[in-house]
Amino acid sequence: MRKRDTTPQDNRQQPLFSWTVFQLIFFQIALQNYCVYIISEMNSLAKSDIIACRRCDDCGIRADVKSDNEEVCILQCSICRKEYPFYKSPREERIMRARIEKEKARPEYDIVIIGGGPAGLSAGIYAMRAAMKTVLVEKGTPGGQMAINKGVENYPGFIDINGFDLSDKFFQHAKAYGLEILQEEAIAIEPGIAHHEIRLANGRTLRSYAVILSPGGVSRTLGVPGEIENLGRGVSYCATCDGFFFSGKPVAVVGGGDTALEEAIYLSKISSEVHLIHRRGEFRAGRILQQRLAMEPKIRVNMNTVVTNILSNGSGVHSIVMRDGKGEESELHVEGIFIFVGFTPNGQLVPAGIAMDPQGYVLTDEKCESNIPGIFVVGDLRKKYANQIVIAASDGCIAALAAARTVELRQSGLEAKESAQN
Ligand code: NAP
Repeated sequence: MRKRDTTPQDNRQQPLFSWTVFQLIFFQIALQNYCVYIISEMNSLAKSDIIACRRCDDCGIRADVKSDNEEVCILQCSICRKEYPFYKSPREERIMRARIEKEKARPEYDIVIIGGGPAGLSAGIYAMRAAMKTVLVEKGTPGGQMAINKGVENYPGFIDINGFDLSDKFFQHAKAYGLEILQEEAIAIEPGIAHHEIRLANGRTLRSYAVILSPGGVSRTLGVPGEIENLGRGVSYCATCDGFFFSGKPVAVVGGGDTALEEAIYLSKISSEVHLIHRRGEFRAGRILQQRLAMEPKIRVNMNTVVTNILSNGSGVHSIVMRDGKGEESELHVEGIFIFVGFTPNGQLVPAGIAMDPQGYVLTDEKCESNIPGIFVVGDLRKKYANQIVIAASDGCIAALAAARTVELRQSGLEAKESAQN
């Protein structure tokens, strides 16, 4: 039997083997720790990536995690302290971003109405009834020209009503439906594809799917010497506003339309005499007004006559110079001259590219929509057969109903589909 070898050399090999094992174990532990360290570092890197203040537009620095769950953690920027969600899943993140973008693109109003005359207020009533988020922008008092009309005798349902009272009824009616009214001046309309922008004088910008433009018009001037210089000192474009100042005094009225005849009749009740001056041999005004005019003893009619000059002294107008059909000039003593020769539509806000006629009236279709989709024009600025309060109100109704349809289509994204079907 072989004896076990127990030489000193063998005894020396045993500790050497153990030392190697020990080294191996130590190396393994070290490697393991290193791996743990690397993994934890990677985790911490990933974590720091998550908590970076990526969407903090103001400072773009790091943020702390305020709360954390599986899908989302709430981050708070370490600089500006803003809080915002961080979606861990890229899909959730995409959905959230898309929602924010959609929200940003959505205009704050469905319909913006510019102008608070009968057309604008009527549009407001119908837009509110159609559940549209609507605002009416008016720089002055709602009612427009209608509010300064002394008597309205042809608005259905009212045999005779003061223009101011009728305006108030329109206004109260619109307010009853909760119409928001901004007393501001609109200075520009910028048409867009999905929505339009309306710039206000105060620097604010309104955005809406549809715009209803109803700015009315301004009184036309004669353009004769002394007219502008004596404005407010004997020259007037509103008998209701200024007639009172000419009580018992002679006045002249220029024009041959409905307004001129109505105002001449009105002034004949206040003034000592009214000289109606018309450039042609027949009136443009309706027959009823002509018949009434003929019955007024204080009104003297001067046909085929024009005013060439308005003369004044230190205290205001004292006479006018007229030229008749034969070319003969004469001077007439009056202390006031009321000019009603029509009006010019207010076209300053009409955006470039909208079709207009040579007189500055906007051309629209049967929905009162201009050639720019979503921009509607109503009332005196719109080209049509006649300008009446009832027609302006009707314009407002048509435009609001059509605008509501536009809004619904734009909101549901069906516009393209519908136009493809037509
Ligand atoms: P309009 O009907 O256009 O009449 C303007 C008048 O001014 C015309 O007679 C015109 O003469 C004359 N004219 C124009 N330029 C002139 C100039 N440079 N010099 C002298 N004369 C001049 O204007 P409006 O009377 O203000 O009426 C506007 C619209 O409102 C109309 O559709 C009218 O029917 C309507 N409206 C209705 C009522 C009512 O129904 N109660 C009341 C007011 C107004 P020519 O005739 O020679 O062109």
